[in-house]
Amino acid sequence: MKPCLATFLLLLCIIHIPSTARADCNYTTYYHGDCNSMKIAITVDDLYEPVNLKRILDLCLKYDIRVTFFTLGIVIHPENAALWQRIVDEGHEIGNHTYGHLNITDMTDEQFKHQLTITQDALNAVLREPYTMRLFRPPYGRYNRYGCVRKLKELGYPYMILWSVGLEDVQRTYKSVKGGSIILFHTNWQDVKCLEENLPKLLDAGFEPVTVSELLDLPPAMETKAGE
Ligand SMILES: [Zn+2]
Repeated sequence: MKPCLATFLLLLCIIHIPSTARADCNYTTYYHGDCNSMKIAITVDDLYEPVNLKRILDLCLKYDIRVTFFTLGIVIHPENAALWQRIVDEGHEIGNHTYGHLNITDMTDEQFKHQLTITQDALNAVLREPYTMRLFRPPYGRYNRYGCVRKLKELGYPYMILWSVGLEDVQRTYKSVKGGSIILFHTNWQDVKCLEENLPKLLDAGFEPVTVSELLDLPPAMETKAGE
């Protein structure tokens, strides 16, 4: 065996990257979890409609499940503080989706950092205590790995979360879901109705909805920070 090939194979053994993930330069991108598991992650983006956010929280409470919300900063208002507190108190997870739902592929590093920081600040303010987000989802799922996202880990977001069941599948979600699926929903009424209709079917089929961090078995936040 040629020395360079042997070195390459050795490196492959040493650098263990989960098969569900793709390691980019400075963060890890996930589209789904372990396909051999019955765990799935329901994710809800944007959160423009507080009334429907409440409906989703009530649904989760009814079926005793936890989901992951990727929030914009612009939707976090003090008058809805009780809803944000419910998200945390009821065991759900919150990730950063930028402040204003802008396409990040055109952003400078500084603009990107600002979008993440002001969203984190808005969340801390409404919760009246720090809640450290570490998951990031780019608006529209658009990113350029050589663009500002290469700074993600540096900015405290080691994990970029995309999805495997998306908008185009939303009307047939039940059929599209497999073990390990990360499912994308929004708080518009069509998506909430779809979730209300499909969640009981998914549970009956044996799927176990969990947060993204649990699906991907991500280390606790403190552990992540300490390892950096
Ligand atoms: Zn979005």
